[in-house]
Amino acid sequence: MGKKIINKLCIIGVGLIGGSLARALKKAGVVGEVVGAGRDVAHLEKAKSLGVIDSFETNISLAVKGCDMVVVAVPLGAMQAVFEKIAPVITKDMVITDVGSAKGSVIKAAQAAFKSIPETLVPGHPIAGTEKSGVEASFPELYENRRIIITPLETSSPDAISKVKSMWQACGAEVVETTIEHHDEALAATSHLPHMLAFSLVDTLAKMDAKNEIFDFAAGGFRDFTRIASSDPDMWRDICLANGDALVGMIEKFSDDLQLLSKAIESNDSKYLEETFSRAKKARDEFCDT
Ligand code: NAP
Repeated sequence: MGKKIINKLCIIGVGLIGGSLARALKKAGVVGEVVGAGRDVAHLEKAKSLGVIDSFETNISLAVKGCDMVVVAVPLGAMQAVFEKIAPVITKDMVITDVGSAKGSVIKAAQAAFKSIPETLVPGHPIAGTEKSGVEASFPELYENRRIIITPLETSSPDAISKVKSMWQACGAEVVETTIEHHDEALAATSHLPHMLAFSLVDTLAKMDAKNEIFDFAAGGFRDFTRIASSDPDMWRDICLANGDALVGMIEKFSDDLQLLSKAIESNDSKYLEETFSRAKKARDEFCDT
């Protein structure tokens, strides 16, 4: 059992990400009490029966009372409404972090809700997840050997940053720091664009007349490539709206390259095809080796 890092933790949004964090911290023995908050009592009852949380509250302002750590793990579109409920009851001992997949939009939501951003707010994003949603899909090992990106603000206090880092490290994760802009551009490229490709590819095939026959012939490669198209549609709508500029830039860049590939196939340009595939294979092999 580890040394207590958090006395009373509030997880707002006890789904895959929030639930896995609560489970990991409990397993590590570094948290006292865990309060869950959300909209749906049935979901919160389920989380309690699974031992993910100790108690719950649907009133967010009440849920965070007396907590020394508040983790906001709701969809991006719900962040501002949640911050607005925390704002009147925040104290200087209450560290607040979030897990949102885009960071610029979370800061805008915080600015609108808090007016002056509290020094205990330290935005974060775990680079871990699955295509499943809800507390039933949560598990304590989700963050082991995974990266957590934190994007502290100029206003973020060193003590709050250190507490958020310690929380994630206790889950077995490595914590890295970057700027909000760099986070949003990098994630548009490595996470948000691939999700768009998977959703779009499956949708294109699903709309084709011979869809059943096509899917009958699909093999492991199709399953691997499209796994993330099973992700939650609402969550991905919010991510697209939250990180639109960076994502559209990446979609345009990728579309240009796809056009070049199409032209190379049309013109039997085997050199272009070999060079493109070899560069991609080398880059992926290197990524998988690290
Ligand atoms: P999830 O499993 O659907 O959980 C979201 C939780 O938020 C649910 O328990 C839901 O509970 C609650 N919720 C939804 N709207 C709410 C609102 N308006 N007020 C209060 N609670 C609300 O989703 P998730 O995958 O954990 O994603 C949560 C966050 O993590 C998102 O911001 C996402 O961008 C980020 N993230 C996800 C992944 C991933 O792979 N899934 C990875 C990294 C980061 P109720 O329905 O009971 O309210």
